[in-house]
Amino acid sequence: MIPAIFPIRLRISTAYVILGERAVLVDTGSNGEEDRILSGLRRYNVDPQRVALLLHTHGHTDHAGSTRALKERLRVPAAIHAADAPKMRAGDSGRLRPLRFSSRLIALTINPRFPPAEPDLLVEEGYSLSEFGISAAVLHTPGHTPGSISVLFDDGRAIAGDLMMGGSLGGAFHPDRPGYHYFAEDLAELRRSIRKLLDRGVKTIYLGHGGPLEAGPVRERFAPDFDAI
Ligand SMILES: [Zn+2]
Ligand SMILES: [Zn+2]
Repeated sequence: MIPAIFPIRLRISTAYVILGERAVLVDTGSNGEEDRILSGLRRYNVDPQRVALLLHTHGHTDHAGSTRALKERLRVPAAIHAADAPKMRAGDSGRLRPLRFSSRLIALTINPRFPPAEPDLLVEEGYSLSEFGISAAVLHTPGHTPGSISVLFDDGRAIAGDLMMGGSLGGAFHPDRPGYHYFAEDLAELRRSIRKLLDRGVKTIYLGHGGPLEAGPVRERFAPDFDAI
């Protein structure tokens, strides 16, 4: 069964619902967006009761901000990579390391704190979504944060969180143009992760901000930087 990927656009970020036999919600937006997410599910005719897992691409405030509220509302487990679990537990994105000057200004406008939530499941590379009738697995793609993951589907689609960004101003302009996100905790590691995702044969990349992106332009944009790894 080829699972559907439905984007739920939120104030700052985009969450995704993957629909197989069960549904997996990827990321929970910012603090206070649980109702927006639940109505997003209904808009796609996905009964919130079908959601079996809250899976996080990483532990930033705009991706795990409504996790605590959704855990309470849906009574489902929250999953995150072990390396980002401390962010979720503390409800703190930690220090955002800017990649360029404009990022510094953006960092000032972001509240790094969010309601803390206890992770129920720590996922690693290779964690399969097959138990939900979804032919996809987790790929560890660190760099933006140490515990950043991507969900790679057997058919070449991927949800990659903040591994990169589509367009500028969070995807408001030219959302199909690949670029670096504003922040990365480890730039060399981030580049290795982009190369890893491309090497795994990804075709279409869904992102937390902007996108989706096609593999061709992504390779063109980032391959020259792979020499710097
Ligand atoms: Zn992020
Ligand atoms: Zn983000």
